Amino acid sequence: SSSSLSSSSDTIFALSSGRGVAGVAVVRISGPGAVGALEALTPGCRLPATRYAAVRRLRHQERVLDEALVLRFAGPASFTGEDVVELHCHGGPATVDGVLSALSQLPRLRPAERGEFTRRAFAAGKLGVTQVEGLADLLAASTSRQRDQALRVMDGALEREYGAWRSELAGIRAAAEAAIDFGDEMEGEVDAAATLGPLEARARRLRRALARALGVADRCQAVRDGARVVLAGPPNAGKSSLVNLLAARPAAIVSDVAGTTRDVLEVRLNLAGFEVKLYDTAGIRDAADGLEAEGIRRAREACDAAHLVCYVIDAGNYYWGTDFLSPQNNNNNNNNNKLDLVVLNKVDLIEDNDAMSTILSRLRTDLGTDLPIVTTTAIQPDGADALLAAIETHLVDRWDAADHDDAPTVVRERHRRHVQACLDALDSALLQSEPELFAEDLRLATLEIGKLVGAIDVEDVLDSLFRDFCIGK
Ligand code: GDP
Ligand code: ZN
Repeated sequence: SSSSLSSSSDTIFALSSGRGVAGVAVVRISGPGAVGALEALTPGCRLPATRYAAVRRLRHQERVLDEALVLRFAGPASFTGEDVVELHCHGGPATVDGVLSALSQLPRLRPAERGEFTRRAFAAGKLGVTQVEGLADLLAASTSRQRDQALRVMDGALEREYGAWRSELAGIRAAAEAAIDFGDEMEGEVDAAATLGPLEARARRLRRALARALGVADRCQAVRDGARVVLAGPPNAGKSSLVNLLAARPAAIVSDVAGTTRDVLEVRLNLAGFEVKLYDTAGIRDAADGLEAEGIRRAREACDAAHLVCYVIDAGNYYWGTDFLSPQNNNNNNNNNKLDLVVLNKVDLIEDNDAMSTILSRLRTDLGTDLPIVTTTAIQPDGADALLAAIETHLVDRWDAADHDDAPTVVRERHRRHVQACLDALDSALLQSEPELFAEDLRLATLEIGKLVGAIDVEDVLDSLFRDFCIGK
């Protein structure tokens, strides 16, 4: 189990850089045997001073394995808190394999498990749970906003915020419990309202802080998980062609037969530093066969879960769109009026400006709202630039608000769940008139924050987190 892993009597090693051909590969060793392992690989050489790089021939059984840059860090001043050695080898697979196999033959050394270096860092108190989460996000970050946010989380933004909430909760609770004890001694003489009044004011202030944190959760989560953008619309409007064009590679199947895109396909884009997950969907219309109906059901699900729904219409075949766009259908099919952008595609098929104006004004009338309309031509290389620009504008308007520089507060679903539960417990506390019940609700609120910072259920959180880690991290 995981607890046996955190016993650090053994020394672990792993390739910490990516697999494959590279200029340099970093092999990391951590534990009490790390320095001994370096000595074994560099017989007759002086140990380098801690934190100074030195060039060394790595040898195993009379053979030279590589000429490498070696570094050592003495615990506790290291990432894991243990003695750590880094071997910066040449990146070829044979070199890496040679070094790893030599290490595995040394006594009391074993390959690291997924995330085991980080787990040891956590056990040594180098990182809190949310910082481990930030590290995981940083390693997975593919856009600048993801990187910025992950760095701040790793730097302790959440750890500090949650820690402050936790001590305030503890303070209020301690005061409530003291009042209860005092009340017992006075045998019911104490006025409950007088006792609770000031504590309720503190609880209300804390509640406001939690609500503010939840207010930016959408943005933080969209940055971390990506903004979900769905292309919906009737069959043959050109959704798959647009997705292909935007991905600049054949990601979705394009065909002339109506209703052939049965799966929702996903393409990832980087727009203004946001990771955008663009989904192609099967055409929304009344399905004939069951397979297609399944595709349509998924398309509707994708729309419901989307941050931005783009409705694609064939400009050369406009009547297709009118049904779906009618207000009645809009209410039935699109929860919360989920339709943010209309894409008039195939405008290359429109003869002249007059015809174009006619279609646009008809479309405007049919829509009955001032939804943005963009025009595209999926068969021209730059034919979807207007769509990209419109998506980008939407994301920036929505999430690049003045509070952009605020520290992230709630970036994972786990965070949202516990912050919300803590807020609910505070709400319940604020309805109580008995100090005992007030204190009990505060205890429940404290439990939720405890789960956030890993004071409670930490093994569950770490186990699920490290499942996503690579070996060597
Ligand atoms: P979907 O069912 O909405 O995914 O539509 P597809 O992307 O499969 O496209 C249906 C047909 O329309 C294909 O033959 C495409 O080549 C064609 N098509 C898509 N976009 C355009 C466009 O902008 N102009 C023209 N002329 N044809 C297009
Ligand atoms: Zn399609």
